[in-house]
Amino acid sequence: MSNESPQKCDLLIRNGYVITMDPERSKHPKGAVAVDGNTIVAVGPEQEITTRYSPLRVIDAKGAAVHPGFIDLHYHATTYLISKLIDDTPVPTGDAGPWVAENYGRFRAMEDEDQYASCILTGLDMLKNGFTMFMDPGTIDEPDVMAEVCEALGLRASLADPAMMDIHGPQQPEQEAGFYDTERCLKGLGKQLWRNDDPDSLVRGHVSIYGMGSQSVELMKAAKACADENDVPFNMHQSQSIDDAGFDRERFGKAPFIYWAELGLLDDRCSYVHNNILWKEELQPIIDSGMTLVWVPGNSFYYRSRKTFPTEMPGLYHRGVNITFGIDVCKTWTFGQNSLLAYNIAREEEQYLFPDDLLAIQTINGAKALLLEDRLGSLEPGKRADIVIRRNDLPEAVPQHHIERALMLHTLTKNVDTVIVDGRIVVKNGHHTLIDEEFVYQLGQKAADRMLERAGVK
Ligand SMILES: [Zn+2]
Repeated sequence: MSNESPQKCDLLIRNGYVITMDPERSKHPKGAVAVDGNTIVAVGPEQEITTRYSPLRVIDAKGAAVHPGFIDLHYHATTYLISKLIDDTPVPTGDAGPWVAENYGRFRAMEDEDQYASCILTGLDMLKNGFTMFMDPGTIDEPDVMAEVCEALGLRASLADPAMMDIHGPQQPEQEAGFYDTERCLKGLGKQLWRNDDPDSLVRGHVSIYGMGSQSVELMKAAKACADENDVPFNMHQSQSIDDAGFDRERFGKAPFIYWAELGLLDDRCSYVHNNILWKEELQPIIDSGMTLVWVPGNSFYYRSRKTFPTEMPGLYHRGVNITFGIDVCKTWTFGQNSLLAYNIAREEEQYLFPDDLLAIQTINGAKALLLEDRLGSLEPGKRADIVIRRNDLPEAVPQHHIERALMLHTLTKNVDTVIVDGRIVVKNGHHTLIDEEFVYQLGQKAADRMLERAGVK
């Protein structure tokens, strides 16, 4: 026992089942986490940590799980309301893509207030489900609106320049003449990267282009180079359904991932989203590149791509690919449900994902994809304090036996009690601490009513 007096710290979480997601995947069944300012200073067995630290504030986790904040690598914040307004007309045969495009298109003309309502609902929904950071794919017309929302809510985000598409690809909407223009896109690249000047900013910037056949090779090369020069991730949609993957295969004369590997565009600093359609010859170049694949499990159900192509994600995960989750657009699934969907898809593909794998996919793998592994994604001394504390006083959490399985498959995010981002408690007892939730819900309803009226639905 040391004679030194305990060190002061701002916060100590005690009596938790602490899942660190550190490289050893350490767990402390009766553990504690000490936080000072925005940084984790110690993680370990409670007895050890409480002797070493004298906190200003203590949270008793009451034996419930304590884990790193979840990270979502792909969410279109301005579709929050639209995705719930579109009809769920069955699409029994064929590609659902054109139907979805038409139905989304009806609501696309949003006013500033509607976009704001969508963004703040997005942020609130994420935080209340234990998500502490997300990556925007470059589809928010006014990234400043989302940045403002993030600052108000205490949510992290990485934002990208909007509308980065210069080819009218198979999934692109009709636009005014001149929209699909390489010069316009090249001029717009990197406009969000100033956000990285402040290392403590909750809101960061990266480079995304839309992808899925909407980009020239010139734009793709320029965007990747811009990301590399600025030390940020490069990200785009890819191979969601046979129309975009087939379009690329035809224009390149080979499978798209083969072509890009040859061009040197795949490496451990880029992430591609969806990848529902992967030809066998594409798997090895993906593995060799060290790139991240963002998996949206619900999307492959919705677009029925699993009828024609197996989901390669579980197999690629076990072969070492950095797989992480995105929600994309909440059509028939929402925050906290990806783990259950992915688990069941894996089983159907005669693969298996352990609950710890699902936790890694949703935490540390997201941080790796954001190139922020040094500060986010796990509970380790020196990392930023993005922490989720669960509660056990609900039927789904009983018995306390397979704790990780309960988190990822049974309670899902229903029992998120406290969420800490950058050392600040932003959710407590399941409710946001900084804003009036009821006001946000009213804002959302009013925006939805306006959107329905403009679309001629009511
Ligand atoms: Zn998307």
